[in-house]
Amino acid sequence: MEKIGFVGLGIMGKPMALNLLKAGFVVVAYNRTKEKVEAIVKAGGEAASSPKEVAENSDIIITIVSDTPDVKDVILGKNGVDAGVKEGSVVIDMSTISPSVTKNIAEKLKAKNVEMLDAPVSGGDVGAINGTLSIMVGGNLETLNRCRPIFEAMGKSITHCGTNGMGQTTKLCNQILVSVTNMAVGEAILFAQKSGLDAHTMVEATKGGAAGSWQLSNLGPKMVDNDFAPGFMIDLQQKDLRLVIEAADELHLPLPALTYVHQLYKSNQANGEGKEGTQALYKSICKLA
Ligand code: NAP
Repeated sequence: MEKIGFVGLGIMGKPMALNLLKAGFVVVAYNRTKEKVEAIVKAGGEAASSPKEVAENSDIIITIVSDTPDVKDVILGKNGVDAGVKEGSVVIDMSTISPSVTKNIAEKLKAKNVEMLDAPVSGGDVGAINGTLSIMVGGNLETLNRCRPIFEAMGKSITHCGTNGMGQTTKLCNQILVSVTNMAVGEAILFAQKSGLDAHTMVEATKGGAAGSWQLSNLGPKMVDNDFAPGFMIDLQQKDLRLVIEAADELHLPLPALTYVHQLYKSNQANGEGKEGTQALYKSICKLA
């Protein structure tokens, strides 16, 4: 069985690594803040002192850290994966980052005869804990098939989206869909309330029809009840929307609806609501009225 290296044991990475151990894989793990590795060692994994050491001691290396510069650090930095990786290994980045930087990293690794897959996820911490993530994979299909048992230990939907970077591009499409839908839900709820219509009734009446969505069913009732606890935090969503806007800029592509939502979330952040759930977008929509 191939040995798995794991870099980044945050909210997402830790339960994902634990699911790999549960599925019987051998896991060698690194986290910048050392204490977080203890949970993996307790569950039967091994600890490494750098991403380089992880790569030296494994065949398939997974990274899941915060943002684009962090992935560059842990893969291409001084003690990064690239410094220790063996020929024929695979690097899988499961963070949400820039598609174009992903392509650059994949090219650099390819020069060493190392394949890369970008495999960002959707499904949140609950999906990571339950092993039910949706995984969007960019890169060589043969490499994906080699890694499929690993993905199956962490997710329930695994989609090959195309070449390197296309997994990240798919994830950014996902973020356009959820954000713009979230704005539509907030507007419909406010319109219902201003019209004297019970907004819970409106959500119940519409969610099973053509307007139905995860956002309407799950976030709609929270907006009506003024329940803004996270779920998925606005600050994290803003990182992803920034990635969408940067990628669209590279394509000279206007995305007016997405950009508008990004601005409304900025208003949330300016009002100290960045740590609230994305349904707090509704508060910014209300302020306009
Ligand atoms: P998190 O809890 O903040 O964890 C981030 C992890 O990255 C930590 O282990 C952190 O180490 C490490 N890290 C960050 N910068 C680093 C650097 N420069 N060098 C080394 N390690 C570094 O974040 P998360 O929620 O797990 O998210 C991870 C990725 O998954 C992000 O790209 C996020 O967009 C994506 N994602 C998150 C969710 C979600 O619901 N949370 C859902 C889908 C996708 P320390 O422990 O030392 O800080």
